[in-house]
Amino acid sequence: MNITDLISSIDLNQVGQEMRRLISRLYPICRSITGNGFRETLDIIKEYIPLEVHEVSTGTKVFDWTVPKEWNIKDAYIKNCKGERVVDFLQSNLHVVSYSVPVRKKMSLSELKGHLFTLTDHPDWIPYRTSYYKEDWGFCLSHNQFLALNDEEYEVCIDTSLEDGHLTYGEYCIQGTSEEEFLISCHACHPSLCNDNLSGMALATCLASSLMPLSLRYSYRFLFIPGTIGSITWLTLNEKKTSRIKHGLVVACVGDSGKSTYKKSRKGEAEIDKAVIHALKETGQPFEVIDFFPYGYDERQYCSPGFNLPVGCLMRTPHGRYPEYHTSADNLDFVKLEFLQNSFLKYLSVVNITENNKKYLNQNPKCEPQLGKRGLYEAIGGQKESAVSQFAMLWVLNLSDGHHSLLDIAERSSLRFEIIQNTADILARRHLLVEC
Ligand SMILES: [Zn+2]
Repeated sequence: MNITDLISSIDLNQVGQEMRRLISRLYPICRSITGNGFRETLDIIKEYIPLEVHEVSTGTKVFDWTVPKEWNIKDAYIKNCKGERVVDFLQSNLHVVSYSVPVRKKMSLSELKGHLFTLTDHPDWIPYRTSYYKEDWGFCLSHNQFLALNDEEYEVCIDTSLEDGHLTYGEYCIQGTSEEEFLISCHACHPSLCNDNLSGMALATCLASSLMPLSLRYSYRFLFIPGTIGSITWLTLNEKKTSRIKHGLVVACVGDSGKSTYKKSRKGEAEIDKAVIHALKETGQPFEVIDFFPYGYDERQYCSPGFNLPVGCLMRTPHGRYPEYHTSADNLDFVKLEFLQNSFLKYLSVVNITENNKKYLNQNPKCEPQLGKRGLYEAIGGQKESAVSQFAMLWVLNLSDGHHSLLDIAERSSLRFEIIQNTADILARRHLLVEC
């Protein structure tokens, strides 16, 4: 079975349900850029795909960075003078600023206030905050919770450890016939946030398990890494392998109701950029293409000038452009089955294009070959399609000069990639084309 067969036979509803189930299972885990929450997450993903788990020691130099101490958390709360937990990590793991140092102290409200974070615009939501590279501590709470705090003494407890340990990441490679690779990378370091984080992890997992049994042209490398430090670490350890990466996508924010957005690679005109844009165009649904910019997700590392890899980012609403982003409102309700399915199908279409995007050489380049005498008009089927197929044949024959790929031909002719691909198959079988 190849990718084209998969697309025609896949039960999208089942894949969508699988993604939803995985998101629900991973949602309660308190993840950060290191620690047991990250390991627990990879253990669950391992039930779906045979992930290899890597551990990199604290203190390891990774280009200009250093692998940080490992952070783990058992509990955290703020108790009022009656001993009631008014802010409780066990209720939501977003309540603690990620990477908070341990604290056990009594303090006044005014002293505590300097460590509290709220969202005044959305008084019911809890913000998500981190302090990875500066030793600090804090609590995030809804603004309504904050307003209910009385001027009294509070008992503050953050039961965390920040010690030498490891940075953990997951990697899985599906071997294709070529050593050339398609990289799929997602960050897996956020706690209970669904669209930013879990949707990408679920899509990458289900994409890997769908591609696993196929015969593939490219090899597919899936990375489940902590944002920024994870891609920097992977690039440091695998610098030599990066020349094999022919295409790459960072997967994030793929379950919200917004239209698809593609952020181009730094190269801007790479094959992956053209393939994604063509796949999105073919859906007939609204989409947006944005140029590369040097912030966002891990594409900023893959596209740093020393690597400049052809890696873009295919998402729905970009980070920071929806109010729920990095808040407790990016929850299980925010990510919908239909949008996960829709994003998944778009990823499959992109893979289908890159897998089949080949260049051919016309074996009869001096004037048009006589199609009728080769029975090629009949090879095409019904009346209405036959006109389209004739155009497709003429386009494929004319532009198959060894320079234009099938994707170039699809773009130039405004015909669907699938039609161009099928036409090239037919013409190759009749020896009018030879693959370059
Ligand atoms: Zn984020």
